[in-house]
Amino acid sequence: MPLNTRIFTSNSVLLPENDSPVPATIVVDALTGKIIDLQHGLAQRAQFPGITDSEWFDADDHLILPGLVDAHVHLNEPGRTDWEGFWTGTRAAASGGVTTLIDMPLNSIPPTTTVNNFEQKKHAARGQCWTDVGFWGGVIPGNQAHLRPLVEARVKGFKCFLIESGVEEFPCVAEADLRDAMKELEGSTTVLCFHAELETGLPDDHEHSSANATLYETFLHSRPQSLETAAIELITRLHAEHPTLRLHIVHLSASNALPLIRAARSSGLPLTVETCFHYLTLDATSIPNGRPEFKCCPPIREAANRDELWDALKKGDIDCVVSDHSPCVAELKNLDEGDVMNAWGGISTLGLGLSLLWTEGRKRGVSVRDIVRWCCEETAKHAGLQNSKGALRVGMDADLIVWDPEAEVKVTKESLNFKNKLTPYEGLSLKGRVLKTFLRGNLVYDSVTGFEEKPIGQLL
Ligand SMILES: [Zn+2]
Repeated sequence: MPLNTRIFTSNSVLLPENDSPVPATIVVDALTGKIIDLQHGLAQRAQFPGITDSEWFDADDHLILPGLVDAHVHLNEPGRTDWEGFWTGTRAAASGGVTTLIDMPLNSIPPTTTVNNFEQKKHAARGQCWTDVGFWGGVIPGNQAHLRPLVEARVKGFKCFLIESGVEEFPCVAEADLRDAMKELEGSTTVLCFHAELETGLPDDHEHSSANATLYETFLHSRPQSLETAAIELITRLHAEHPTLRLHIVHLSASNALPLIRAARSSGLPLTVETCFHYLTLDATSIPNGRPEFKCCPPIREAANRDELWDALKKGDIDCVVSDHSPCVAELKNLDEGDVMNAWGGISTLGLGLSLLWTEGRKRGVSVRDIVRWCCEETAKHAGLQNSKGALRVGMDADLIVWDPEAEVKVTKESLNFKNKLTPYEGLSLKGRVLKTFLRGNLVYDSVTGFEEKPIGQLL
C-alpha cells in the first residue's frame, strides 16, 4: 500500500457493474485523489497496517454512491454575483451530493463566448469552489471564430439559444449562425447544446395581452409544446447535415418532441437529451397562482406530460437529469405582485436534486442504480468527463457521497445553501439525506458538522 492511502468501506456501495449496492471497499490514493483499488466485501483493518483513524472511513450500512455530476448550472459570477456565485452555488451543490458541476455560459457578465471572457470567468472562480467545476462555452451570432479557441481552452462544449435568452449579452442564434457554428465545430469531439424553443410565425400575444399575469396557466399557454417541437425539428434537420457532430437538447419539457428525438437517434445521429428535476417532480395543475418561484422556460407542464418524460427516461430516450439551477435576486421574481408573466424564469434547485428525484422516483419503481446512471454516469459522459467522474471505478477520481435513502429532510429556507433562498420546494418533506460528501477522497461536507474549513474544488 502506498503512503497516504484512504479506505472507504460500506455494506452498500453502488459499483458500475452492479444493479444494486454491494459490500465493498474503496482504496484511494490521497495524493492523487484517485481510486487505486476496489475490493468486493468488507476489508478488515488489519489488511492495511499503519492505517490511522483519519484514513479509515466506515459508512456501515449507509450507501456509498459516486458524487453527482450536474451538467447544467448557472452560477452567474462575475457580473450577476448577487444572483448566485461560485462560493454559495458550489456549497449548495456539495451539500446535496454534487461533486462536479458544469457552469452555463450565460447570466454572468461577460458571458463565456470568447477565450478572454472565459479567462475572466476562471479568475472569478479560483479559490471559491467547493466542488469541481467545468464550463460550457456559448454560441452567439458572430462568435464562430472564437469557438475553436474555446475548445482548445477546454470548455466542455457549447450552449446556444433558439429563442430570446432573457439577457441581452447572450442573443439567440438564427439558422445561418448555426450553420456557421456547426461547420466550425465539425470534426471535434465537443458537443453543441440547444435551448430548444423556437417561435414560428407571429406570436399570438394580442390574444392574451388581457390575460391575468398572475395565473400560472397564462404563462403555460404562452410557451406551448409547439415551441419545443419546432426547435427540435430544426435541430434534427441540421444534424442530418452534420451527422458526426454531437448535439444535445437541454431541459426537455415537451413530451410531444419525443417522437422526433427517437427518430433522429434511431437514424444514428449522436443526439443526447436531458430533462430537469422540476419537470419530473412538479406538475402544472398543482402550481399555485401568483407564485413566480415555479416559473422556468420551457415551462413545467401537465401531469400526463410528466408521466411521458418518466417513461422516456426509463426507456433511455432521455439520457440524463440535471438541475438547471437558475436563480436571481428576489426583486426579479416579482413576488409581491405574484406576476408570473413578467418575473425572471428560472428555478433554484442546487442541493435538492437527489432527494427530489428519489422521493418521486421511488413511487415510480426507480432504483438507486437508475439515478446514478442519469445523474452521474450519463451527465459525466455528456460533459466529456467519463474517464474521471461519475462512477466508482479504479482510476477515477474518488468523488463519493454517503447517503441515507430513508432519512427524511424538510426543505426550509435555513436548509438551503444557495444565495437567494427562493425555491418552489420550500416546505416539502423529501426522502434521502446526504450525510457526507467527499471530493477526490477529501471530506468537503458533513451533514452534522457542516462544511470543511477551505474549498478544494478544482477547475476542470
Ligand atoms: Zn439553463
